[in-house]
Amino acid sequence: MEEIKTDLIIVGAGPAGLGAAIYSVRAAIDFRIYERVMAGGQITTTESIENYPGFKPDISGYDLIQNIIEHCAKFNIKPCEYNQVDSLKLTGRTGPEEYQFKCQGENFKVKSKAVIIATGARPERLFVEGESEYIGKGVSFCATCDGALYYDKEVIVAGGGDSAIQEALFLTKFAKKVYIVHRRNELRAVKMLQTRAFENKKIEFIWDTVIEKFSGGDRLEEVSLKNVKSGKKKCMKIDGVFEYIGIKANSQLVEGIARLDDYGFIITDSTMATTQHGLFAAGDVRDTKLRQVITAVADGAIAATYADKYLNGL
Ligand code: NAP
Repeated sequence: MEEIKTDLIIVGAGPAGLGAAIYSVRAAIDFRIYERVMAGGQITTTESIENYPGFKPDISGYDLIQNIIEHCAKFNIKPCEYNQVDSLKLTGRTGPEEYQFKCQGENFKVKSKAVIIATGARPERLFVEGESEYIGKGVSFCATCDGALYYDKEVIVAGGGDSAIQEALFLTKFAKKVYIVHRRNELRAVKMLQTRAFENKKIEFIWDTVIEKFSGGDRLEEVSLKNVKSGKKKCMKIDGVFEYIGIKANSQLVEGIARLDDYGFIITDSTMATTQHGLFAAGDVRDTKLRQVITAVADGAIAATYADKYLNGL
């Protein structure tokens, strides 16, 4: 088992973690970056990113992350891929001079003076037939990222909470029709959003209904729907499906160490510092107002900058 000591551990090599890594290299911090699977994170499956400056008219999530990985390689940043950090513990020591964190994975143990958690969040998924096959090919979890691709098309939003209704309203800017498929006959979303959705002529509700199957060719073409009350099934041609059935933060590592909000996201201040000294969080895993590549990268930059200040006792 590898046992090492370092000044900073970055957990997660998505845009937030890699952004933090670039800023850490330039600040000459001794650090390691660990990634559960391959570097990239959620955007690897995003079909097109139009709102990240510098790439016209758009770039696929895969290509954007490859560019970031190549950029990192230039600085000799090599994420330790397929190295899941299973636990994070406090050693009992305090202060920037001391190895106060202990991270452990299957084959490694690391002590560090500071940690940046950039483990992201994951959308809840329906887990029905065909879903995995069409993620990034018609099935999306991000209207802000993919909505503009559905100009004059017909889409479904699955879910009945605030996110589903808010994003369905957003999608009406592009799509000619937005169907909200909800498993009950009343919405969980706040009344104000409900009223706006009911008044919007482009939105049609399909109540008491669940998606049972996604199908098509290279791209999604059709969904199979089932009315949970009558048991009646039908197929529906559709260009895209946006799943908004909840989002979960990958914040398990810091449970009991730093404060989380009511939904499990890590609470930070504007320097990305958590409630535990020396522990920072960046990107989707924190209680941010916007979860995008651009905000994740920026969070990473801020977290590394303030981790550096922390390590230098500033
Ligand atoms: P949410 O409130 O948990 O709503 C999830 C929705 O998905 C519910 O309508 C639920 O149906 C449905 N659902 C869950 N699992 C399902 C399944 N397997 N199949 C079909 N439908 C399923 O999640 P959210 O909308 O992402 O919101 C998360 C939190 O963030 C909420 O507290 C929300 O208030 C907050 N938020 C706030 C704002 C805002 O302030 N503007 C915006 C977005 C989110 P049921 O209703 O039947 O359970």
